[in-house]
Amino acid sequence: MRMTQMFIPTLREDPAEAELISHKFLLRAGYIRKLTAGVYIYLPLMQRVLTKISNIVREEMDRSGALEITMPVLCPGEIWQKTGRWDAMGPELMRINDRHERPMVLGATHEEVVTTLVCGEVRSYRQVPLNLYQIQVKFRDEIRPRFGLMRGREFIMKDAYSFDADQAGLDVAYQKMVDAYNAIFKRCGLETVMVESDTGAMGGKYAHEFMVVVDTDGGEAIILTCPLCGYGGNIERAESRSLTTAPAKEAARSRLLADTPGAKTIEEVSAFLKMPSQKLVKTLLYRAGDKFIAALVRGDRELNEVKLANNAGVTGVEILDAESVMSLTKAPVGFAGPVGLNKDVMVIADEEVAEMTNFVVGANQADKHYVDVNLSDVRIDKTALIRAAQEGEGCPRCDTGRLIKRRGIEVGNTFKLGTKYSVALGATFTDADGAEKPFVMGSYGIGVTRTAQAAIERFHDDRGIIWPLPIAPYHVHLICAKSDDAQLVKAADDLYADLTSAGIEVLYDDRGDRAGAKFADADLIGIPFRITVGAKGLAKGAWELKRRDSATSEDVPFSEVVARLKSQIQ
Ligand code: ATP
Ligand code: MG
Repeated sequence: MRMTQMFIPTLREDPAEAELISHKFLLRAGYIRKLTAGVYIYLPLMQRVLTKISNIVREEMDRSGALEITMPVLCPGEIWQKTGRWDAMGPELMRINDRHERPMVLGATHEEVVTTLVCGEVRSYRQVPLNLYQIQVKFRDEIRPRFGLMRGREFIMKDAYSFDADQAGLDVAYQKMVDAYNAIFKRCGLETVMVESDTGAMGGKYAHEFMVVVDTDGGEAIILTCPLCGYGGNIERAESRSLTTAPAKEAARSRLLADTPGAKTIEEVSAFLKMPSQKLVKTLLYRAGDKFIAALVRGDRELNEVKLANNAGVTGVEILDAESVMSLTKAPVGFAGPVGLNKDVMVIADEEVAEMTNFVVGANQADKHYVDVNLSDVRIDKTALIRAAQEGEGCPRCDTGRLIKRRGIEVGNTFKLGTKYSVALGATFTDADGAEKPFVMGSYGIGVTRTAQAAIERFHDDRGIIWPLPIAPYHVHLICAKSDDAQLVKAADDLYADLTSAGIEVLYDDRGDRAGAKFADADLIGIPFRITVGAKGLAKGAWELKRRDSATSEDVPFSEVVARLKSQIQ
């Protein structure tokens, strides 16, 4: 493609709206333009990148045996009401009324639609396994659309849904998707880490996320991984093995009320009482709707709110403000404790707390704590793993690894949904034994637009994008260094024709600009190979070939250029 015939509106200045480097480059290099918050127009270069990613996704999904379909974007609200997600998704779900005032939804994900389809069409165990997928636009009214394509309100997703007769069938379908995902991201030139994740509003019990690891703000997710065995978990979900030895169990002493004037934090109480923080228990008070929850974790630990919410059976928790703490415990913040706590409060203790003896807790009185508290002194409604895993702790799967904390961009995920949607929508089949059973489902997403930007966040330098070859908009950026030199123009035109007819995708800078400006644009746009047709090369009989990811260049004799590039691209 000749640049004089292309539409690449590059910008000289950094756009103010962009925080992330990848977002800046997408705007500056003329890949995207914003229409409104979280909604973008994909310009010709971007369109090519998205087509390449989609093609890779399609090939690998097809190879896995999944079947491509297209479901409507416009969906009846009724099916969302049936599964409960009409309420559960809250304002993120884009809703409209049609002219008859019937509630409609712009698809945010398609479990409801695909299950409705299968419900009417698939009746027998002989018709599964079945995996249906699509590559399509999705709508979500994100609370904070930001970072360009990373978190849009309209974005492109590949979503797939598997239907099986039983759990064993789902396990097979799930593994096929995991294999397909690994193949897809690898083919896109992206290394991903697969981590265990929380299932949140999707329902289901088992889920993984595929993360592109970056060390920038673009990595919205925090993950903990084990370098030895490959275990990984999203921070919301990650488990860990404690390497510090828990305080030894002691014979229970009887509880005493101690003065702790002004000591509110763990550090202050621990210093005042001259006891290690491991002998203290933190009591954190939360609200979930109209419920109150007290979370107990050892003094040296952090609480994980997602784990707490899951164990409390609520969708989210909100820490209590000082005023509510006062009205609930009759004490200021810093002195709450489980002894004699209001009986309407659900008390959830971390597993480690359940092993403690003679510990310290707030006394629900200003400036007082109880010491030598034991489990018999407190009412605990549930014991569960609610503490956050921390970097440096032991891997929960292998004996020797220690967890490392990293930042990741979630480019895809996989869920074992089970029967949540098939039961809600009455999608059943007749099994071999004649019994009517709900389908066992899985759901699998890849953010196509997010993957494109993740590649830039991962691969760039201060001059621009460095595309992995398989998803680059073109293979070669051909530059004619002097557009007023007829001999050079002729040579560049000929080379352009030769490369193109060899099946190489070329962006040909045939504009009248200075060579320096062309080089700067080439670096910004990020095409993997650059060929320069210039006066020096003409004299030498060799054109300069430079890889975008390398600082050096080499001269390739005229007659070898096409073959060289062809072999590098294959
Ligand atoms: P996140 O935790 O980032 O909000 P999610 O759990 O809501 O993601 P899914 O509903 O499972 O994501 O969507 C599947 C994939 O779609 C994600 O892995 C991600 O790559 C992509 N995706 C999700 N939300 C957005 C968005 N707002 N903009 C762009 N891509 C998105
Ligand atoms: Mg989301």
